[in-house]
Amino acid sequence: MSKTHLGHTARKRFGQNFLHDEYIIDKIVGAIAPRNDQKMVEIGPGLGALTEPVCEQIDQLTVIELDRDLAKRLRHHPFMQSKLTIIEQDALNFDFASLVENEKKIRVFGNLPYNISTPLMFHLFSFTGCIEDMHFMLQQEVVNRLAAGPNHKNYGRLSVMAQYYCKVMPVLPVPPSAFKPAPKVDSAVVRLIPYEQPPVQLINVEKLNQVCAMAFNQRRKTIRNSLKELISGEQWNALSVSPDLRAENLSLTQYAELANFVASNSS
Ligand code: SAM
Repeated sequence: MSKTHLGHTARKRFGQNFLHDEYIIDKIVGAIAPRNDQKMVEIGPGLGALTEPVCEQIDQLTVIELDRDLAKRLRHHPFMQSKLTIIEQDALNFDFASLVENEKKIRVFGNLPYNISTPLMFHLFSFTGCIEDMHFMLQQEVVNRLAAGPNHKNYGRLSVMAQYYCKVMPVLPVPPSAFKPAPKVDSAVVRLIPYEQPPVQLINVEKLNQVCAMAFNQRRKTIRNSLKELISGEQWNALSVSPDLRAENLSLTQYAELANFVASNSS
């Protein structure tokens, strides 16, 4: 399998798998439905597989690309250069709130580098207050985790946190043959729409993250055991959640109850 596409040799460290299937590209751009009235932001434009058709529909697009060579190619692209604002940075550290103008929420999309997709999702969750929607190509397995509900093997911290922040909608499965080079795994596009009002009220979102991390790190144990550093034996009497459950059995509402209990009982 050639690693060179359009004269660029794919760099594994940047998670480069370039889309080349026009049918899939059309479907993704259709799902994104680019508009001029809100700032559109692409993470990892690469060789422009999504960038170019999006630029055909709108006047301005902001792209964040870590690979200098790819950023340079885009800067010199005959059709796109006049429409693009190119930010040569690591999306994992990027302050997405800095793109907000006149209090207008931004819309984010991208075929994400799979090697950083989970930390990138968590990074983006901290900006959901200024994001209208997100469309991402991810590993199918990550989309399954984002969308999974309780009592499912894919349910984990990513599911709980994603579903606290966003409505999660899988859009389209994508086979490895749609990319060059082809990844070893199946992919899928997901739409994430941040809630104006999250489905549960939290005192402190970090406590939800902490409770989920501890519970799912020991997912075979009961939460009485895995959360013992946060909730002591007799404290369970004040809660409606049974301590005999395991991490994967708890709903978001139940996690929120535990997180709020921990937040109000910690100094
Ligand atoms: N959008 C192109 C496509 O669909 O063909 C490329 C997608 S490729 C899977 C991921 C892109 O993200 C590459 O262009 C890569 O250089 C870029 N990238 C990798 N890590 C990044 C990071 N931390 N911040 C921003 N861009 C990154």
